[in-house]
Parts: sequence; C-alpha cells; structure tokens
Amino acid sequence: MRLTRAYVATALRTGDRMELPAAPAAHVARVLRARSGDSLVLFNGDGREYAARIESVSGTRVAISVGDSRPVDRESPIALTLLQCIPRGDRMDWIVQKATELGVHRIVPLLSERSVVKFSGRQAESKAAHWRAVAASACEQCGRNRLPTIETPLTLADFLGADPHTGERLVFDPDADDPAPAGTAPVSQQFAIGPEGGFAPDEIDALRAAGYRGLRLGPRILRADTAAVAALVWLQSRFGDLHGARQDR
Ligand code: SAM
Repeated sequence: MRLTRAYVATALRTGDRMELPAAPAAHVARVLRARSGDSLVLFNGDGREYAARIESVSGTRVAISVGDSRPVDRESPIALTLLQCIPRGDRMDWIVQKATELGVHRIVPLLSERSVVKFSGRQAESKAAHWRAVAASACEQCGRNRLPTIETPLTLADFLGADPHTGERLVFDPDADDPAPAGTAPVSQQFAIGPEGGFAPDEIDALRAAGYRGLRLGPRILRADTAAVAALVWLQSRFGDLHGARQDR
C-alpha cells in the first residue's frame, strides 16, 4: 500500500518531533483516520522523502517524528515553463493541478488583452498563494518532491518586457502554420497558452518578435485548460519523461 505523503514547508531532520501543519493534519486525522504508530512520507521541496511516524492524534492535531530521508527525483529532464493566460472561474486551479502532475517546472499566470479576470496587486498575491497550495497538494498526490514555481500574476506585456529566458519558446495558437516542429530536445522550454478569447493579434506579434514560435495542436480549437494539458503532454512525450518506463517508486 502506498504511504500517505504530506508537504511541510519547513526544514526536516531525522529525529525531529513536530506537529503536522493544519491542512495535512486534518486530512491525516479526519479523512485517513490515521493512528499513532502509522507511517507516512514527508517532503518539503528539497528533493528528499522523509520517513515519518505518527506519535499521537488528538482531534485534528497530529504529532509526528521524522525518520531517515533519501533523495527521490521525479522531475522532468526539461525545465518546462507554462505561460498561462488566466481563464475565468476556478479553471486555473485545475490547470495548476494538472500541470504539476505533468511535471511543469514553473507557471507564470498572465493577464492578457482578452483576459476576463482582473486583479488588484493584493488579489494577485493571494491568488498566487492559493495556486502554490494547489501545486503542493498535487505534489503530495503525484509523488513529486520538488514544487513547481508559481509566479505572481502579471500582464503579458510586463512579462515579455522583463523575460530573461534564452531557451526554446513556443506560443500555442490555433492559427499557427506549424503543426509539429522538428528540433532537438531542449533543456528548457517556455510555452504560452491564451485565454478563452485567444491572444489578440498584436500579442501574437509581440510574442513572435520575442522569439516565440507559433505551434498548432491539431485542427480543433481546444479550451484554454485543455490546451495547457495537451501542450504539456505533447512536450513531455516528445522531449521529456512521458514515455512509459517507470524509473523508481
Ligand atoms: N478563438 C480563440 C483563438 O482562435 O485563439 C480560441 C482560444 S482557445 C479557447 C484558448 C487558447 O488555447 C488559445 O489562445 C491557444 O493558446 C490554445 N489553443 C486552443 N486550441 C489550440 C490549437 N488547436 N492549437 C494550438 N493552440 C490552441
């Protein structure tokens, strides 16, 4: 049986005793009905898994002791950055969750000309914090021991004006000519997905001028959330680690 994994945003050392943070503690105590003596796996994003033992459960408070640790790498060989124009509703949560499962390295939530959502600076920070929690939870579920970076939302224009990326750049666009580019496996790849209404023509021009290659994903128009997942699956299966063989457990 697979052990429960819990993310804790703190340093971990063998021999430490501590209380689990509220969210994983509630899950462990209420949903899993764990008891003292049960085992679980902790990770804090440093790339290691830490064996842990539940010492006591009292209501939703769970005290644990930290055992041995080992490095476990389930990261993609390519550093994939998803530049995602934020769709409305809670679709961005879904995109963050699925992109994390699919091994994305970094997500930059973008506000573009046709974005329906608008944020103040404070809302942008709290949205980013929420999406970081979504990503941490996805890492608990999928076995990653490093969290993707989730940037604070910004406009596409501001992002392009300050972007230092030098690797491969793609913009997924239903009107692009190129159905499937040839190329060698990139070490890092950055790719942009538009909002519900797509990128405005001047945004496509700005992306092209910044070195983004247009790429079409088949003949159908995909929803923004579907497009993000389809693009990631395509990139990971072509250049990354979606090729079937299981490396470790
Ligand atoms: N009418 C919009 C347009 O033509 O761009 C549709 C936008 S689509 C709902 C949202 C985003 O998903 C697009 O901006 C693009 O980034 C991506 N997308 C959807 N279908 C695609 C396809 N077939 N090829 C490449 N990208 C696609």
